[in-house]
Order: sequence, then structure tokens, then C-alpha cells
Amino acid sequence: MILYTTTFTTCECEHKQHETVVYFMRYHRIPNETVRRLPIYLRGLLSLREEGRKSISSRNLAEFLGYNPWQIRKDFSYFGGFGTRGIGYDVEKLIKQVKKILKIDTVHKVALVGVGNLGLAVLAYPGFKMYGFDIVAAFDSNPEKIGKKVTNIEIEDVSNLWMLKKRKIDLAIIAVPREAAQKIADALVKASIKGILNFSPCRIAVPKKVKVITIDIAMDLARLPYYMPASH
Ligand code: ATP
Repeated sequence: MILYTTTFTTCECEHKQHETVVYFMRYHRIPNETVRRLPIYLRGLLSLREEGRKSISSRNLAEFLGYNPWQIRKDFSYFGGFGTRGIGYDVEKLIKQVKKILKIDTVHKVALVGVGNLGLAVLAYPGFKMYGFDIVAAFDSNPEKIGKKVTNIEIEDVSNLWMLKKRKIDLAIIAVPREAAQKIADALVKASIKGILNFSPCRIAVPKKVKVITIDIAMDLARLPYYMPASH
């Protein structure tokens, strides 16, 4: 991954205060593990902001997030490092920077496909907004569901998925049964969707340019007993 990071320095010119943009270009391969941790850091930082914290030392931030300070410093170092020695991190600035790296500093419109029990829970979940995701459309194939409104969104016929591109929706959530998932993924790719969060319990194949993350809650649960102490 070639990465451009941007830092803003404030400068006083004779006319008015303005921002000078300084670009750092770094040629680092960012480990997937680092990218996976960034939203976790962001979630912690958002809670700190809610608590009214303005700045935090790297040690306290690490404690709050449950990571080692070196891990956080290493992760941030891929992006130029954000802290100031002796002062630590400016919470608001760090939130902005992490959001920018994750490309969630602007709102992403999201479509949901499959408005069954899981889909309904997704539509009702308020947590997506915190990261800048706005579920603006929902699709299903069941004629009894099409046309009904859920959380102010009218369920549309799944045959209209091709319109997503026109509506500038670039992310989608799949919550259809396993047998339908691949067909839906194909239709989403055709509609120029760039990222898919797949809740169907199966692997879906897509071209390289499309990123898929599959979440199988039952499969995650299936890992837990392995770590449990044996009962006598
Ligand atoms: P329900 O019984 O209300 O449908 P459910 O969660 O048990 O809920 P599932 O069989 O898991 O239903 O299906 C999830 C949703 O996906 C349903 O609303 C179903 O109508 C929808 N669905 C199934 N196949 C497709 C498809 N090919 N395209 C779009 N939606 C589909």
C-alpha cells in the first residue's frame, strides 16, 4: 500500500490565518493487522472524546485501549506518528487523522440486501453512524416485504440493485441466506459496489478490486469452547 499522509500546520500570514498543508509520502506496506486495529483505536478515541478528554499520553491511551504502548506507537508510525513528546495525543486531531486514513472522514452510503431477522437488526443498529456509514437503501426478493418501510427506509425489489451506481452507493451489506449470497454479490459487483460486508455464512467470490469481509457469528462462537478449561 502506498500511503500519503497529510498533516496540517497552522500559519499566521498577514491577511488571515490559514492552513499550510504538508505532505509526507511514505512507501510502507501497512500490515493488515494494523488496519484491523485502527477502528478499535478509533472506537476508544471516540469514547474518550465523549468523556470530555482533550489530550492523552500514549501510555494512558494504551491502557485505555488494552494494547501495549509500543504497539500503538508502531501502528501510528506507519502514518508518520501523531503524538508530541511529553504531551501525548490530541484526541480530536487523532480522531480526524485515523478517520482520514480509514477513508471514513466522509459519509459512505450503504445498501442492505436481505431484510430478514439479521437485516432488520442491522437496520436498527445505531452504531454505523458513528463511523460515518449511512444505510440508505434496503433490498429483498420477498414480494410481501417489498414496499414496506423499516426505520424510514422503503424495502426495494432486489432486481433494482443495478441502480446503486447511479445513487452513488459504494458499500453493501449482504444478509441473505447462503444459497443466494453469490448471486447477490455478482449483482453488487455489476452495480460497481467496492466493498461488501457479508453476513451470509459462506465464502463469496468477487474480483480483486472489490473487498469482502465476511462475518459469521456462529463460526466465531465455535472457536470459543476450544479455549475453555476442560470440565471434570
Ligand atoms: P424471514 O423468515 O422473515 O424471511 P429470516 O431471517 O429467517 O427472515 P432468511 O431465510 O435468512 O430469513 O433470509 C433473509 C432475507 O433474505 C429474507 O428477508 C429473504 O426474503 C431475503 N432473501 C432471500 N433470498 C434473497 C435474494 N435472492 N435476494 C434478496 N433477498 C433475498
